[in-house]
Amino acid sequence: MKSEILKMLRETGGYISGQEISEKLHVSRTAVWKVIRQLQEEGYQVEAVRNKGYRMTDSPDVMSREELESLMRTRWAGKNIVYYDVTDSTNLRIRELGDQGAPHGTLAAADRQTAGRGRRGRAWESPPGASIYMSILLRPDIPPDKAPMLTLVMALSVAEGIGQSMEQTQPEIQIKWPNDIIINGKKLAGILTEMSTQVDFINHVTIGVGINVNITEFPEEIRSTASSLCLEYGHKVRRAPVIAAVMERLEENYETFLKTQDLSGLMEKYSSLLVNKDRDVLILGAREQYQAHALGINRMGELIVRREDGTLEVVYAGEVSVRGVYGYI
Ligand code: ATP
Repeated sequence: MKSEILKMLRETGGYISGQEISEKLHVSRTAVWKVIRQLQEEGYQVEAVRNKGYRMTDSPDVMSREELESLMRTRWAGKNIVYYDVTDSTNLRIRELGDQGAPHGTLAAADRQTAGRGRRGRAWESPPGASIYMSILLRPDIPPDKAPMLTLVMALSVAEGIGQSMEQTQPEIQIKWPNDIIINGKKLAGILTEMSTQVDFINHVTIGVGINVNITEFPEEIRSTASSLCLEYGHKVRRAPVIAAVMERLEENYETFLKTQDLSGLMEKYSSLLVNKDRDVLILGAREQYQAHALGINRMGELIVRREDGTLEVVYAGEVSVRGVYGYI
């Protein structure tokens, strides 16, 4: 009931009477009043005016299932929400929920992770109260070899979702191929995609996203390469609306992807945000490291580069990292 009342307060904008809420939700006016009291205790600014009703004047940066539900405007992405104050890793939770049969689009979000992970066993710095840690469950009916493209679909959705939820258009949110989200040349968000497959079909895909929102201090090892929305825009940002915006973008971009099972419908948008485009890059592979000039991506999401001897090469995201020649970008 709390998420429905929150939604009504938000959608009305002005005053809504206790009577109207109680009629719509088939509950007593006392029950409505109790929920309003709870919301006020959680930090929501809700005014109660005699003969007018209730009006929400401000929302704090609350992370809860109800807050997320009240903001979600999607049909399936993030409609089923599981929220944790603390968990080891939202990717582990979603993988488990996937094995137990949770529906396509299930979203796990946490305020804190004790074992946030990146690619190849790396760690993801996940302090409490400041950032977004979330994972979504997808059940795509596509061959397993096409699933890595979903990581680029998510990167595009995260970049677009963050961009849309901020009032300023500068600094721009960009993508470092294949799936790091960048602001002012620093890493703002990371994405980790994991799959559960049979030989020729996908059981489910888990895509985890960590977004640095209100962090202002990073550990020494990543201080020069990491940043947050708060540091770059100069003010605190509410997390829940960013999550809702990313889910909205993902729902649309995922459906575009499924039509062709490749990135042909998304390439143009992805390329316009690609920070590596037309830049010299270092390709760090397991067997080989080399310098090349990045030209863009193809419809399979691979990076097209020109080597120093002029030959064109297609780089597959799987096991490589890309760096700028003189630094992170
Ligand atoms: P790259 O190595 O190109 O940054 P990757 O995809 O290989 O990307 P990820 O798995 O996305 O790496 O993220 C793990 C790495 O990101 C860690 O090794 C660390 O350097 C860095 N990192 C960890 N936590 C954060 C954070 N909160 N913000 C920014 N960077 C972080």
